Amino acid sequence: MQIIDGKATSIAIQDELKAVVAGRIANGLKRPHLAAIIVGNNPASRAYVGHKIKACEYVGFESTLVDLPETIDQKELKQEVEKLNENSTIDGFIVQLPLPDHIDAQAILECVSPVKDVDGFHPINAGKLSIGLPCFAPATPSGIIELLDRYGIETEGKHAVILGRSAIVGTPITLLLSRNANPGNCTVTMCHSRTQNLEEITRSADILIAAIGRAHFVTPDMIKPGAVVIDVGINRIEDATRKSGSRLTGDVAMHLLEKDWNGHITPVPGGVGPMTIAMLLKNTLEATSE
Ligand code: NDP
Repeated sequence: MQIIDGKATSIAIQDELKAVVAGRIANGLKRPHLAAIIVGNNPASRAYVGHKIKACEYVGFESTLVDLPETIDQKELKQEVEKLNENSTIDGFIVQLPLPDHIDAQAILECVSPVKDVDGFHPINAGKLSIGLPCFAPATPSGIIELLDRYGIETEGKHAVILGRSAIVGTPITLLLSRNANPGNCTVTMCHSRTQNLEEITRSADILIAAIGRAHFVTPDMIKPGAVVIDVGINRIEDATRKSGSRLTGDVAMHLLEKDWNGHITPVPGGVGPMTIAMLLKNTLEATSE
């Protein structure tokens, strides 16, 4: 079993970005500036935003956290987004999801200026991605591409099977892997909750990407020998051996794979998750004016 180490790769990318930022500062150029809007007190969202701010500090980016109460209404939140759109010191920003139920999240994402949309969630960026134009691609699928690239995994002509069709993971990774590019040039099958004969399809995957959000859904009998398995899922399960009583795990039952299984796999945690932050920083550097 070969582990694809997203944590180490993320640190390597952040070190590269740190050197680029130091070079920019030495040349009198602007320090990249990422802002994040967070609404309410969802502990997981707060933890994710905290990691993003910490990563900004590490690479030498400026960061701003716009911390808003759960009770904010649609109009007020839209105004906060517009303030960031107009703030010329901010190069890119994100609106941390999920937003409270009374907020129309899609409408808010559509207010983010596409040139500052470093999460790549605006329909302009999603549309550009779909027709192969330069754009901000969402960070999680970009992180997967970066891992395949840095681990020298051959993708051309391979059968990639994607479990999940969300706008932030399943759909963009389908587009990225089917592009005429390297990594890319895969033949891609995208599966979802209505897919029939799922196990048969996954067993034919040279590259299997699980992004459904169901703990240990993918079992060893669903995986082709020698496949590359990318586990995007982040699921909290009970674990009495932990002080907290729970732990995070992926969509793949990695613990059931034999030690001598001859494929590649990303662990959870420490696989795709840390790459998401590194690629968000990369997008922010790209958004930064000269
Ligand atoms: P969504 O809930 O938006 O999408 C889940 C997808 O899985 C849907 O397309 C759904 O199909 C499909 N699905 C659900 N059940 C099945 C099934 N039994 N068989 C086949 N397909 C199924 O999730 P996200 O894409 O936002 O996230 C997926 C997972 O990835 C989550 O665990 C999330 O926490 C994690 N994640 C991790 C990130 C990271 O940085 N590592 C970033 C983003 C997400 P249908 O459309 O038919 O409902």
